[in-house]
Amino acid sequence: MKIFITRQIPDKGTNLLKEKGYELTVSPYDRMLTKEELIEYLKKDRYDAVLCLLTDKIDADVFDAAKESGVKIIANYAVGFDNIDLAAAKKRGVLVTNTPGVLTDAVAEHTFALILAIAHRVSEADRFTRGGKFKGWEPMLLLGEGMEKKTLGVLGLGRIGARVAYYAKNGFDMHVLYYDVRRNEEFERKYGAEFRENPDDIFKEADVVSVHVPLLPSTKHMVNAERLGMMKKTAYIVNTSRGPVIDEEALGEALKAGVIKGAALDVFEHEPEINPLLLESENVILTPHIASATKEARDEMATLAAKNIIAALSGGTPSNLVE
Ligand code: NAD
Repeated sequence: MKIFITRQIPDKGTNLLKEKGYELTVSPYDRMLTKEELIEYLKKDRYDAVLCLLTDKIDADVFDAAKESGVKIIANYAVGFDNIDLAAAKKRGVLVTNTPGVLTDAVAEHTFALILAIAHRVSEADRFTRGGKFKGWEPMLLLGEGMEKKTLGVLGLGRIGARVAYYAKNGFDMHVLYYDVRRNEEFERKYGAEFRENPDDIFKEADVVSVHVPLLPSTKHMVNAERLGMMKKTAYIVNTSRGPVIDEEALGEALKAGVIKGAALDVFEHEPEINPLLLESENVILTPHIASATKEARDEMATLAAKNIIAALSGGTPSNLVE
């Protein structure tokens, strides 16, 4: 069996594939492949599976080349799969898998790191201190906001959103509100969380809005100028889901105009480009799409992606099929 891997991933995953006797071809570049390069690789040789990243756009053209090459499964090294055209996959009978669950803790922890960092002005304070501006303790220096007993609004109470809500409730005794297309009454009972039928209410009531919905046509620009305008002036928005869920230009304008207090973002609308309005703002924390980047999570993601490939190529059903 021959596997094409679009970029080096942790050994934990590649070793599993090697142990099966599979022949691996890993892209030699320390960067993402262009679509043309990926198609060229698939045309040059016969492959049974492709292990790809969220930065690889797997569209109908790539599926055509994959199908011709003999590819039976595309294993995405991510839980989000908005980079993959599922209709094109289905049409050609190619399986698609993702890596859910194993990165939930990492992303939820990173989300909370961002919530606390924006509320306690950590990046701003770091810049201040390094800039030689610290002249001794001051009563009013860099005052932030406490999170204890504040209201967290979760958009998308799935695996990651629920874990963030759990930290909020158990760590900071926060009041949790959520909006999701599926209501989770068990979670409500367990954590005293409250469901809101209208997402607008999350924006109106929360002190921190945390975004955890997948990127879909229905969630693109779910956070727009109108909803940012509904937020409290003292509220923060945090996004560790996908950039295009927020209208980034509208967010930049809202921050500049003081419509909301701050934002902490791990993902961006046009990665790797960042809107200049965000780069200019003091009250914004930016991290480069690293929410799942713990050693533990990345090892597990590599393992799961490899297991999905092994299951598909052994005639079984991979555990993490997405349809
Ligand atoms: P999940 O599928 O468990 O949760 C998503 C939740 O969103 C579900 O409860 C679903 O019902 C809800 N939802 C779907 N459409 C909705 C809509 N239109 N309105 C409201 N709710 C809606 O997924 P997860 O494992 O929690 O991951 C969530 C997302 O986080 C992923 O799709 C991915 O895009 C993103 N993510 C980002 C990183 C990162 O590195 N920053 C890492 C992992 C995941």
